[in-house]
Amino acid sequence: MPEVAKAPHGWRPARFLVITAHPDDAEFGPAATAAKWIDAGSIGRLVCCTSGDQGGEDADLDPLTLAATREAEQSAAAAIIGYEGVSYLHQPDGAVANDLPLRELLVREIRAFRPDAVLTHDPDVLFYAGGGVNHTDHRTVGIAAVDAVFPAARNPMAFPALAQGGLAPHRVRRLYLFWSNAPDAWVDVTDTYDRRIDALRCHVSQLHHPERLDERIRAWGAEEGEPIGVAYGEAFRLVVIDEDEEDAPEVV
Ligand SMILES: [Zn+2]
Repeated sequence: MPEVAKAPHGWRPARFLVITAHPDDAEFGPAATAAKWIDAGSIGRLVCCTSGDQGGEDADLDPLTLAATREAEQSAAAAIIGYEGVSYLHQPDGAVANDLPLRELLVREIRAFRPDAVLTHDPDVLFYAGGGVNHTDHRTVGIAAVDAVFPAARNPMAFPALAQGGLAPHRVRRLYLFWSNAPDAWVDVTDTYDRRIDALRCHVSQLHHPERLDERIRAWGAEEGEPIGVAYGEAFRLVVIDEDEEDAPEVV
């Protein structure tokens, strides 16, 4: 086992953007961290790249109806966490491509919201260390978000019509990658873990065994809290892009 940090992660972005593949990824991902930071004064926003139109097991189900249901579920969950809003990019579920049109959409979101940190899927994970295959959309959205953060969002010559239209370049300082096989930052989310579970309950269309949700999610949180000795934690692989932080946001 690699040497791990023993102190809870103590930096908090003033503004953060969570970029996910599907409705419910944000709640199965860093929801309690988002809630903690928002409670402490941060402003958070969520970008959901697909609307989960393949997230069912019935080939006769109308994908647009399912997408509308899932957007409503995601927006309700986001309100519980306290995000200022959700952007839906309407990419095809199960077939997200890290192409230039998606990169431009993400650069627009980043430049419009101007976050200090972006939280997204760890794109390096093909197979989870604990078993299982990482969904293609998770991997693709992770790398698309990284490519949008660096260098495109900060480069005025990338998608020049954006800067010409008033969306000035923006430097995101940090990436927090969730569902990583190589976590190195653990946030103490003991105080906001119940909110994560409440928000997860909004995803009614995806919860096949809602009675088991509480136990399952609490087990994850307990496991991720263990390295820092707290009841519930959320783990990230942290990438600091800009060390220069003299005007950095506050620490928790
Ligand atoms: Zn997903």
